[in-house]
Amino acid sequence: MKEKNVLHQLVNKISKLPGMGQKSARRIALHLMNDRNFLVGLINLLQKADREILNCAICGNLDISTHCSICSSTERNKRIICIVENISDLWAIERSQTFFGQYHVLNGLLSALNSHTPDSVKIPNLVDRIKRDNVSEVVIAISATLDGQTTAHYISALLSEINDLKISRLAFGIPIGTELEYMDEGTIGIAIKLRNIIWIIAMLWAYWILREKFIKSIS
Ligand SMILES: [Zn+2]
Repeated sequence: MKEKNVLHQLVNKISKLPGMGQKSARRIALHLMNDRNFLVGLINLLQKADREILNCAICGNLDISTHCSICSSTERNKRIICIVENISDLWAIERSQTFFGQYHVLNGLLSALNSHTPDSVKIPNLVDRIKRDNVSEVVIAISATLDGQTTAHYISALLSEINDLKISRLAFGIPIGTELEYMDEGTIGIAIKLRNIIWIIAMLWAYWILREKFIKSIS
């Protein structure tokens, strides 16, 4: 009976993980019980992660030292900070391999409903950091939800008081590979407002014409 209770507790604990339901939790618990070598390896790894993984004291990212590899890198631009809601957003931007500045993880968004205040989402730390490190640009990479918009507006207003600081936001619009007819009106409206001139296509077109002329001239 005792074993049954422990198994029940295990299923319940696993079901609390993000994206996990009771059915998936039962499957994982059974897998762990049927493969004890895997279970012991997982226990050891979880204990090691608990001992060794820390939050970066500067940006809030996870790493094995108090200053993460991004903050301690000499090859990254320390005068540009990208503000993200959580660490998984930071990792998503890193996977894109398009941003080479620093980050600031808020660890949440302003929310009256959830009692999230500027202090609890680490906004004062951000302001101190921008002033201390003489940051020249801040990129607000927060999702376009209600709380996300509130937080972005609050940060923009707060940072606009700092001299010579450029403030930008991620562009919103049509995801690559998506057909317009399936997009909602709000997304299409924002994409229209934030439209860009296609300089790259124009440059490629000009290059193609010049190339054709050059080939004709030498033939
Ligand atoms: Zn860091």
